[in-house]
Amino acid sequence: MREKTAFELASLIRERKASSPEITRAFLDAAKADMAKPADDPTKINAYASIDEEAAMAQAEMVQKKIDAGEFLSPVAGVPVALKDNMCTSWGTATASSKILGGFRAPYNAGVVSKMREAGLIFLGKTNMDEFAMGSSTETSYLGITRNPWDLSRVPGGSSGGSAAATSAGLAPFALGSDTGGSIRQPCAFTNLTGVKPTYGSVSRYGLMAYGSSLDQIGPMAKDARDAAVLLSIISGKDERDSTSVMEEAFRVCDILHPEKTGAENTGMSGKRIGLPKNYFDQPGISQDVQACVYAAAETFRQLGATVEEFELPLIDYAVPTYLIVACAEASSNLSRYDGVKYGYRSPAADDIHGVYYKTRSEGFGTEVKRRIILGSFVLSSGYFDAYYKKALQVRGLIRRAFDEALTRFDMILSPTTPTVAFEIGGKIQDPLAMYLADIFTTSVNLTGLPAVAAPCGFGEGGLPVGMQIIGRAWEDPALLEAAAHYQRATDWHTRRPAAMAEGAR
Ligand code: GLN
Repeated sequence: MREKTAFELASLIRERKASSPEITRAFLDAAKADMAKPADDPTKINAYASIDEEAAMAQAEMVQKKIDAGEFLSPVAGVPVALKDNMCTSWGTATASSKILGGFRAPYNAGVVSKMREAGLIFLGKTNMDEFAMGSSTETSYLGITRNPWDLSRVPGGSSGGSAAATSAGLAPFALGSDTGGSIRQPCAFTNLTGVKPTYGSVSRYGLMAYGSSLDQIGPMAKDARDAAVLLSIISGKDERDSTSVMEEAFRVCDILHPEKTGAENTGMSGKRIGLPKNYFDQPGISQDVQACVYAAAETFRQLGATVEEFELPLIDYAVPTYLIVACAEASSNLSRYDGVKYGYRSPAADDIHGVYYKTRSEGFGTEVKRRIILGSFVLSSGYFDAYYKKALQVRGLIRRAFDEALTRFDMILSPTTPTVAFEIGGKIQDPLAMYLADIFTTSVNLTGLPAVAAPCGFGEGGLPVGMQIIGRAWEDPALLEAAAHYQRATDWHTRRPAAMAEGAR
């Protein structure tokens, strides 16, 4: 059961071959078995920050009753799902894997959570992440590292590493992550999953703990393009409580869900123009196996009828520095709310109001978060605002223009998601610059607001997964998922599962 996609599990429920409570129980038991392992057990995946067994089972019983009564909630009604620990729910805790939010219980549900409840999805729990979504390896979590189910000595990526590890190890059928500079796509690439960074403004950020508000989007992480599509269609669409939510209606993805009914199966990719940014492929530090796998994917798209053409996509050297300035500036402002008064942790050592702020923040935030708050405060300070922050906003505009221009000539841009396969635990955590530079292919997408899909396209060094990235025009998220779905009908990379799926949860 744990190897199946969400769509397959939903079919079992509809055909009365399994019930929602049975399926939920199977995933909860596997998640609990992993959580019960001691922290130093090298086979512990540590995908979850918390699970809420009672709430999940009660919800599964309730949804099953509705299904039995003939109510149609969604194509995946009754299927369980995991949430990244930075999304608010009116039950359980939400801590962004930070000490400063230890034990925090939100008083309301995030916009995406309300939509998922209506769709009859069952919430298993919250997944581990880099503290406040700052990181690329899930090593900055206050709750300890998460391991990559494909190789337990490697990182699962980050910051949504817990959602990736849970989905890939069969501890959840699929999950939600958040992506500010690659945090959905990079972990998907490292764990053989399909994920989407949706167009900015298509998915509500209400109840998502803000990191870089002009960059953050919630999106799906799944075993294939069809599961990602159905989850995206559920969470997208207008939410009055988020003033940047601008899409009136949810994305329609019928062609991806039912190609047999719509004939989409056979039309393939003919007529689609794919641009291959040549200069992305000769970046320093990019590994040959990643190059080869993404070039091979381009060839597959050509066989499916697309035209593929190489071109230069300028400004790539500016993507990471611009992203860091914008993200840290916004983070320094967003994280000022954690002051020991309003939420979570308060230092017991403080004896006056300044002490409460100073000691709470000194003790409550981890090193990476402090680094980014300091960097952000610096680039916003009066003497440096023009030289750094304002300049970054100007460069952001230029990057956006370069992508818009490319996307008038091409329907989509195909690139690697990451320069290498998953790296070793401990491999980059002492060298923040090396860690940041590995986000070279993902950060421009957030700066431009455009949608991008990450999807499996082969295996490289050490038998580890490689992911491609398909970037498209604003609001054309379904077209990108359709391309991934066409690719997945022609290939079987996405169907491979890690050995830890069978073993890890014992
Ligand atoms: N890895 C990137 C960073 O460290 C992106 C994080 C994210 O998307 N939340 O900031």
